[in-house]
Amino acid sequence: MTKESDNNTRKFETEAVRTQTERSQFLEHSTPMYLTSSFVFEDAEDMRASFAEEKDRNIYSRYSNPTSTEFIDKVCKMEGAEAGFAFASGMAAVYSTFVALLESGDHIVSCKSVFGSTHTLFTQFFPKWDISTSYFDVNDLDAVEGLITSKTKIIYAETPTNPGVDVLDLELLGKIAKKHGLIFIIDNCFATPYLQQPIKFGADLIIHSGTKLMDGQGRVLAGITVGSHELMDKIYRFARITGPALSPFNAWVLSKSLETLALRVDRHCSNALALATFLEDHPKVEWVKYPFLKSHAKYEIAKKQMKAGGCVVAFEVKGGLKAGKRFFDSIKMLSLSANLGDSRSIVTHPASTTHSKLTTEERRAVGISDGMVRVSVGLEHIDDIVQDIEQALDA
Ligand SMILES: *Cc1c(COP(=O)(O)O)cnc(C)c1O
Repeated sequence: MTKESDNNTRKFETEAVRTQTERSQFLEHSTPMYLTSSFVFEDAEDMRASFAEEKDRNIYSRYSNPTSTEFIDKVCKMEGAEAGFAFASGMAAVYSTFVALLESGDHIVSCKSVFGSTHTLFTQFFPKWDISTSYFDVNDLDAVEGLITSKTKIIYAETPTNPGVDVLDLELLGKIAKKHGLIFIIDNCFATPYLQQPIKFGADLIIHSGTKLMDGQGRVLAGITVGSHELMDKIYRFARITGPALSPFNAWVLSKSLETLALRVDRHCSNALALATFLEDHPKVEWVKYPFLKSHAKYEIAKKQMKAGGCVVAFEVKGGLKAGKRFFDSIKMLSLSANLGDSRSIVTHPASTTHSKLTTEERRAVGISDGMVRVSVGLEHIDDIVQDIEQALDA
């Protein structure tokens, strides 16, 4: 931790820029990359005390590294968390967090609409260790308490959800978790800490894929989990042994990216709202979903817990699968890619791509219809984004 970051009253944008690793003897302005796998010791006693964890210092980059620590410190400040660990990918963060906290026989209560790989982890891999999961529907939080058993340890959710952009009431979920003594974990990747800080609503741990808006330029894979010292210590003990640590190079890229997170996300959100508003009036569009449109079923909750609506807009092209595919094939400028939260706008057609492994019923259960299109609205000029989508709808 640096001298510069000891001030608790600084605003989000300031912390994003000013949280910085202690300067070296060269007095560099911007943080250098500490591309080193290990660190040296003064003498036998220094090494003994370091390994005994009597000293808080870097030993080996699988455990900690100054550049990764800078990235972690920034995210902790942004989320209002005490501690964190940075992972090589978002999925490494999801996997390590669950495995560090769960034991054989434990039970998870999760929202049905979670990231595809997380869903596969719950349904195909955790059962191997007798860890089971029960799912609630995004629009039926009344059902959550009924799923809790004596074996339940974790409540898990994402909001806004992918790709349906549904919104879950964090305050309500936080209260349920507290009442039953459960660990409440939120994957906050879609909102970023700039738009939403789930710890304020009772979340115990926050997971991010840094690959999305945090980097925001489609360059690196990364993940991070932040939360209380107590829970993070368990995750750290697991991670330092199993080795999912983030590369310090990628940590450096991300720490730089976070300096502009607020600026970028503001523009992503204003572009997304403008596109959603345009689509609402389009005759070839069946429906549009965006958290900050008044027509969104959870508009009031979105307003309560988010600063703006995020970068993802979902809509249904009239005419089902065929029309959806035709729209997709007519796109000229926007990228056809599986990523999101990039400076370049991206369109996906979940039914034929990211969620094609799910059955039609499973897709319907997570809110994906055949003509549904997801747009991750980027930082190009809004007129050009709208124009490309308009010509593809007219095609
Ligand atoms: C992308 C994503 C992940 C996984 O992150 P990776 O960095 O791709 O491993 C997890 N959760 C959500 C919501 C995501 O969008």
